[in-house]
Amino acid sequence: MDERRWLNDVTVYAPGQAAVKHRAPYVLGNVTCLAGEVDPFHQGIVAEAVSHCQTIAPWMAVVVAPDLQWKGCYNRGVCSYRTNTIFLSLHDGPPEIVATAYHEAWHGLERRLPGNVIEAIENELQPFFLEAYKYYREPHERRARLFANWCGCIFEGKPVPKETLLDAIFAAAWSGETAKEIDTFFDELELVA
Ligand SMILES: [Zn+2]
Repeated sequence: MDERRWLNDVTVYAPGQAAVKHRAPYVLGNVTCLAGEVDPFHQGIVAEAVSHCQTIAPWMAVVVAPDLQWKGCYNRGVCSYRTNTIFLSLHDGPPEIVATAYHEAWHGLERRLPGNVIEAIENELQPFFLEAYKYYREPHERRARLFANWCGCIFEGKPVPKETLLDAIFAAAWSGETAKEIDTFFDELELVA
């Protein structure tokens, strides 16, 4: 079944605002959102993918486009700290779109996590993650990949793992509990200032 249709729409979900549609090409920072052929089936997962990003890192905007270009390459997703935006491409199928949402949301969240939490995650990692692939040697990519894999189990309908400290950190991130604590922390900072 291949009913791919040409799509020009780029949708921007800014925090606390209604979604706004733009016509591709749409450029934000150094990411270019492009038109492209999309299987309508892929669009069925957009609401869920966006809601994961908004739960895990609610201060980030989410931009959904048929295709994405960054540094001259096509990407499934990009997390831009400069524009506070998570970009998601509709090019691949629903499991990839959701996995990318988790991955980029983790990047968005991790920047606000205290150093001791990052340290705790690194301490929990098995040597496999440090040596198996070149990709895992980049610490922030390793953690984003690991979080997306962890969330993938829930997406597949498996129960939430609750055995290790890593499970506890990831479960709190996935449920939005961590984001709420960070938001409260920043609110308090603002009150003091
Ligand atoms: Zn990444």
